[in-house]
This record gives sequence, structure tokens and C-alpha cells, in this order.
Amino acid sequence: MRDIRSLEMRGRRVLVRTDYNVPISEGGVITDDTRIRASLQTLRYLLDNEASAVIIATSLGRPKGYDEKLRLGPVAQRLSELLARDVEVLPFDLDEVRGQILRANQGSVLMLENLRFYPGETSNSTEFSHQLSELADVYVDDAFGTAHRAHASVVGVPQLLESAAGFLLMREVEVLSGLLRDPRRPFTALIGGAKISDKIGVINNLLPRVDNLLIGGAMANTFLLAKGLEVGKSLVERENVEVARRLLEEAPEKLVLPTDCVVADDMGMPETARVVPVDRVPAATAIFDIGSATVRSFAEVLATSGTVFWNGPMGVFEVPRFAEGSFGVARAIASIAGYTVVGGGDSVAAIEQSGMADDVDHISTGGGASLELLEGKDLPGVAVLGGIGA
Ligand code: ADP
Ligand code: MG
Repeated sequence: MRDIRSLEMRGRRVLVRTDYNVPISEGGVITDDTRIRASLQTLRYLLDNEASAVIIATSLGRPKGYDEKLRLGPVAQRLSELLARDVEVLPFDLDEVRGQILRANQGSVLMLENLRFYPGETSNSTEFSHQLSELADVYVDDAFGTAHRAHASVVGVPQLLESAAGFLLMREVEVLSGLLRDPRRPFTALIGGAKISDKIGVINNLLPRVDNLLIGGAMANTFLLAKGLEVGKSLVERENVEVARRLLEEAPEKLVLPTDCVVADDMGMPETARVVPVDRVPAATAIFDIGSATVRSFAEVLATSGTVFWNGPMGVFEVPRFAEGSFGVARAIASIAGYTVVGGGDSVAAIEQSGMADDVDHISTGGGASLELLEGKDLPGVAVLGGIGA
């Protein structure tokens, strides 16, 4: 991928695609600014290298056209605090935007309104790509979270301007493709979450490459079914029992399933929770977490791993009574000497809630993008910058 450091920035207007798709509460408060912080290195680099203007382009939420509630004011405000500089949100009118950019002072930081307000963004319209590219001299992509989307600001603009990847995008691609290329061994993947169908591409691509594949979350239930166990009212995918059976036959020495689990009568009745072996799940209950014996056995495998990749919570971690499995593996991952990577929206939320995030080597800012990369797919936003797939 072309490197941001290969471009001349001095005296030039730089359009930077960032991923500021952050959670914002009703009152306009950003509840997690990780993605804004993650872009600071690139923005500071541009300012230090005397770009004449830094024009940030990002999307927020999934509005279909203009939506007052999804304007970028709160995002610009937070960025301004972190960068200790003024950040001006430009009007939602590209003619006015052009004028304002021309009048901007040297070293200004400006932000386009939410890209999703413009219909040409998601349709990757040639006209919108041209309009965006005319705002700047140079394009830098630092938005790993949208690298799997062939949108105008991701793939259209870099075909029209001198372009390169920013520091965040470069690091994400290097770390994640490194997992596929030459991980330090033993390499352990810990996969959980809701559905096999969401993760089957990743599992298929990782299984030949890993030494251990630990499976938790609701996904494990379908594997337990495939082994002939009864899982009561647990979330399962009957249509994927065959897939699970094939994976168990393909790599029996690599796949590790839970041996105990936390069951309850209902997700909303955590007071009925109890731990049972996986072959004793009462018919009237459902599995909502892995049990403590499973956490210990997973932790043992993790402890001796040279590389760990975690995606997918071990249970319904949103409910405190069912969070211990996810928090337990989070602590195990945080404490090991091996190289650790966590990716996936809910997995990142779980590691953050566990308080262990600082002890993980790499936390990916891209949910869908990190999974697609690990599936072995070429990401359009990476390919357009001269990057090749993993
Ligand atoms: P990620 O976003 O990290 O890729 P997923 O979206 O695949 O993770 O899965 C997260 C969801 O899986 C969470 O909302 C969690 O509640 C759910 N989940 C995990 N284990 C179970 C379970 N045993 N039963 C029902 N839902 C589960
Ligand atoms: Mg998710």
C-alpha cells in the first residue's frame, strides 16, 4: 500500500477519510472516542508536515439522506479537544464548501458533513467522487472500518487524486494480514459470538493456519448439537449442524469446545442461572455463557500461545450474570506473553468493559473490515491504494 510518508504534504490541501462512526448518546455525548483517537497520529503528521488544509471526510450512522440527528458537530467538538485545535464543520452544500476551503487559513482543520447525507457516497457515483476530489490536492485514507466498502470516498476519490494510506490503516492491514502470513506459534484463534453463518468464512480461512481454535458463544451450541448433545432452548443454527460436523471431522485436534456452561430459564431471568456440564443442559433452559472450567481450560491454551486472535464474545456479556466467560478470557488474553489481537464490534466492547483493553497488543477499529480481511478477501479500500490482500 502506498505510504502517507511517500507524499508531499507541504502547502497542499489533503482530504483525509477517517472512520468516526462513534456511538453517540441521546444528549449528543460520544460514549466511546477510540476511533477519533486512533486517527490523531495521521492528522498530526499532516499538520506537522505543513499541509495547507486538512479536510476530514467521514460517515456517521446509516442515514438515507440528510438527518439533523446525525450531523457531525459532536464529533468535530471531540476531535477539536483531542487535537487542541479548532475543527470546523463545513456546510452540507458542496458549493459553499468549496468557497470555505478557498478562504481557509494555512493549517486549518475542516470537516465535511456526514458523507452518508450525499447519495453518491454509497452508490460510488463518479460525479460525487469528482466533486470530492476537486476539494483537495491529495487523498489519505485512514479509515480501516470502511475499507471493505466500495464507496465514493473510499475507492472513487483515490482513483482521481494522488493517494496513500494513513498510519492507522497501514497498521491494521499489517497486523491482521500478519496473522495470516507468519504468526508466531502456537497460533490460537478464539471465536465466539452469535452465529456460525457470520463467521464461517473466517473459520474456514483460519482453521488450516491455526494450531488451536477455541469456540465459545452461541456458535458453540451448534457444534455441541453436531456432537449429538442436547442444548435445550439455546440459540442454535440447525442449518449449520452439518457445517459444524465437517469442521469437527476436519481438525479434531485443533477444535476445542466448552465442557461446561451457564444455563438459565431465560435471558431475562439471570437469577435462574447455574453452571452445568455441556452434556447436562436441562431441556427447559438455554446456554448463555461458557462455564468456569471452560474458562480455565481456554486460559491454559492461551497461556502457551505465541499469537492469539479473539473475535466474538463467549456469552451474552451485555447481561452481567453472563459476562464472566468473556471477561475471564479477556483477563487470560491480557496476561499472556504472546502477541494478542482483538477484532469485532462486540468483542472490542467486551474487552473494554473487562478493563483489560490496555494489555492487548492490537485492538482493531474495524469490525466487518477485520473479518473480511481474515476471510482472505481483498478489501476495496486497500486494493485501490496498491495494497494486496493477505
Ligand atoms: P462481534 O461483533 O465481536 O463480531 P458477534 O456480533 O458475532 O461479535 O456476537 C456478539 C453477540 O453474540 C452478542 O450480542 C452476544 O450477546 C451474543 N451471544 C454470545 N453468546 C451467546 C449465547 N450463548 N446465546 C445468545 N447470544 C449470544
Ligand atoms: Mg457484532
